[in-house]
Amino acid sequence: HPALHSLVQGVATGGLRFAVTLDRILTASASPPAPAPPPEPPRAGPRGAGAGAVRLSGLTFRYGPHARPVFRDLDLDLAAGEHLAVVGPSGAGKSTLAGLIAGLLAPQTGTVRLDGADVAGRDQAELAARRVLIPQEAYVFTGSLGDNLRYLRPTADPDEVATVVDRLGLHRLVDRVGGLAGTVDPGTLSAGERQLVALARAYLSPAPLVILDEATCHLDAPAEARAERAFADRPGTLVVVAHRISSALRAGRVLLVDGGPPVLGRHDDVFARSATYRDLVGHWQRGADPVAPDTGARPGSD
Ligand code: ATP
Repeated sequence: HPALHSLVQGVATGGLRFAVTLDRILTASASPPAPAPPPEPPRAGPRGAGAGAVRLSGLTFRYGPHARPVFRDLDLDLAAGEHLAVVGPSGAGKSTLAGLIAGLLAPQTGTVRLDGADVAGRDQAELAARRVLIPQEAYVFTGSLGDNLRYLRPTADPDEVATVVDRLGLHRLVDRVGGLAGTVDPGTLSAGERQLVALARAYLSPAPLVILDEATCHLDAPAEARAERAFADRPGTLVVVAHRISSALRAGRVLLVDGGPPVLGRHDDVFARSATYRDLVGHWQRGADPVAPDTGARPGSD
């Protein structure tokens, strides 16, 4: 079973990824991957039921009883349809936050609510239809390219699939494997191609909440910009763990995590309030981020 292969990989690569994989296995084997679509799907990326509002209240999370909390008493409210970029230095807790929002990690205190309902103890198949998390190492199973793209929404019609192929620039891959019926497997796709497949899957899914955890890091800058534009237009709430300033600038709000109290606001606000963010922006602007526009922001300005 492709999910089993992924499980073995997941065990080898650590806790969160394991949780992500396990969640996939549960949703893949316990039930059909996605529920029936709404009666009249609007273009590509139709919303599921609900709107994708996220509310974190009093969240404290640590990986073990003796570990330092990654988050302490965290509150965060995302309106339905809002786009948030999560930024911060390595190890600050970005992936942990992504896992918490997705309900893949259980906080020690506090709650995560998606459209008003606590994600804890929620039926896995139902949760899978309401949120999708794409991790950095994208999951592809051996099967047709089309089935891989439609994995989270098997009833997506050909027009919708064509739209996502177009928007994400998947033509080259489609041609290379001989069309959507062509077979792909994890070993024959590049890391970037695997990411494109996973992004297309998230785009087509009925979930009103999409969480991208560095899910574009293996794409070149134009492909990444294309993917970001596509997701900016997709209805629903978007949480992007960003590694380039372009993602932060495109998002409505930025959440800076750095081990201290997180700083939330528009780019300019966070830039004014957080030295860590100014450092990151400076680093991105100094060439680590080839697509960084000039924001007028100057690092370390106070
Ligand atoms: P990066 O940018 O490097 O991906 P991040 O901001 O996503 O980092 P996390 O992966 O969320 O950071 O990690 C936050 C903290 O929790 C780090 O100190 C990390 O070492 C720790 N951590 C992450 N996963 C686990 C785990 N499975 N078990 C124990 N500690 C963990």
